Amino acid sequence: MSDVIDLGHDHRLQFLRWAPDRDLNPQVSDVPDVERYAAVIEHLTPEGDRCAGGVTFDSPTARKIEPGKAMWSVESWAPLTLSPSVLCLRCGDHGFVRDGRWVVA
Ligand SMILES: [Zn+2]
Repeated sequence: MSDVIDLGHDHRLQFLRWAPDRDLNPQVSDVPDVERYAAVIEHLTPEGDRCAGGVTFDSPTARKIEPGKAMWSVESWAPLTLSPSVLCLRCGDHGFVRDGRWVVA
């Protein structure tokens, strides 16, 4: 699997890894790295400007590190399917990631 997925509809998803420096963050010394912790979804606003939003994948590590944060369930990694839909709080872009594609909501 690539770390970047072209979802179509001018949407590009990049996976983000969680792997802090344990020397600087000893409080997480017992929390394992997560290769695909979150993702940034670059897209265009309704006006055509570049924008980006983020999703954090539901995982034991994410729940421990960021309790209470909104998280997305990964129904499938390949092709990527997330639940629920993704709403950009900056520009209002709204859609679903299903079968590795962006589906406009
Ligand atoms: Zn946006």
